[in-house]
Amino acid sequence: MRNQVLFHEGTLEEADGRLVQTGKRCRDCGKTAYPAMERCPFCASENTEKAALSKVGTVFSYSVTRVPVGSFKPPIILAYVDLPEGTRVFGQIHADEKQVRAGMKVEVETGALWTEKDGTEVAGYYYVPYTAGKGVEK
Ligand SMILES: [Zn+2]
Repeated sequence: MRNQVLFHEGTLEEADGRLVQTGKRCRDCGKTAYPAMERCPFCASENTEKAALSKVGTVFSYSVTRVPVGSFKPPIILAYVDLPEGTRVFGQIHADEKQVRAGMKVEVETGALWTEKDGTEVAGYYYVPYTAGKGVEK
């Protein structure tokens, strides 16, 4: 069994052998918080349930960091991605920076971000440019 830790602790859950971004949907106001919080941040209700996030979203805004940060190699493209359920997610985009634009569609992928020297895989989520029909379920 491989040794794996999550970079985005508390934001991903394993389902059907893969990592899925999981937030909390409020049963009272219908909004989805990500990362999951005990109470709904919009109406303070405790009547919430776990909810997998949509896989495809739209880049709201982004920036590019051109120096290494920890184990991340430049260019590091960081973005806010708006999902159809109204949730705005902060994450990296793995793409040629010349492709990236506000308003572009992206889809989430999960998996290894890097491997530590002791073999521990550090896993998380990141976005890639969305390609229609590439097998994204929703
Ligand atoms: Zn609520």
